[in-house]
Amino acid sequence: MSRKTVIAGNWKMNKTPDEAAALINEMKPAADKAACDVVLCVPYVDLPAAVEAAKGSKISIGAENVHWEESGAFTGEISAPMLNALGVQYAIVGHSERRQYFGETNETVNKRTAAALAHGLTVLLCVGETLEEREKGITFDVIAIQLKVALAGISAEAFKNVIIAYEPVWAIGTGKTATAEQANEVNKFIRDTVAALYGKEAAEETTVQYGGSMNAKNAAELLAKPDVDGGLIGGASLKPADFAVILEAAS
Ligand code: PEP
Repeated sequence: MSRKTVIAGNWKMNKTPDEAAALINEMKPAADKAACDVVLCVPYVDLPAAVEAAKGSKISIGAENVHWEESGAFTGEISAPMLNALGVQYAIVGHSERRQYFGETNETVNKRTAAALAHGLTVLLCVGETLEEREKGITFDVIAIQLKVALAGISAEAFKNVIIAYEPVWAIGTGKTATAEQANEVNKFIRDTVAALYGKEAAEETTVQYGGSMNAKNAAELLAKPDVDGGLIGGASLKPADFAVILEAAS
């Protein structure tokens, strides 16, 4: 079995439910033509409208985060069973904006990943170095720790539902993209780390995306690299024409 190419959008804190439904309807024709898997991760309040709008199309819907407990006194959080109840299939975990602004740590990323997998969600696990870390030459060390801690206690069977997104923090929402060579180098390192944790066969089957200012202009070059199996796309996933070009580049 060869690994899947997955293009996932991350809408961040954008769009009301009505706007989300309209945007999904606009994106459906391009998604249905795509040869890759297509996922849209949308704000929590948009999830019911998004799941409804995506019905009958190739688009799967994801959340942008998920809590590790099933219920309880965790004001402002959303659990995996709540996402299950809406028909949500994916959840982003460990996005750098969560790490940067909301105190997300490798340990909480691990707890969220474990809970999401236990409830049948596919996890889009984000890892990536800051500019300072890249300049210090510790990119691989940072990513190895992020992966090892995030995946601690996750069985090989559960890991089959993990997609890893390499997202250099310096490239997210900045318009600065990693070169295709930089993306491929780190994605290959991620695959090697997965091989050390779960074996070579599992590593070959793991989808490793690149994310960070991927757009209609640079997607083809990035996606042509052998270890780049798709993209996690922020800004460009809110623009139907650009997203369609990325889907075509991945197909
Ligand atoms: C993201 O939010 O995961 C992302 C990669 O954003 P952007 O494409 O806007 O850099």
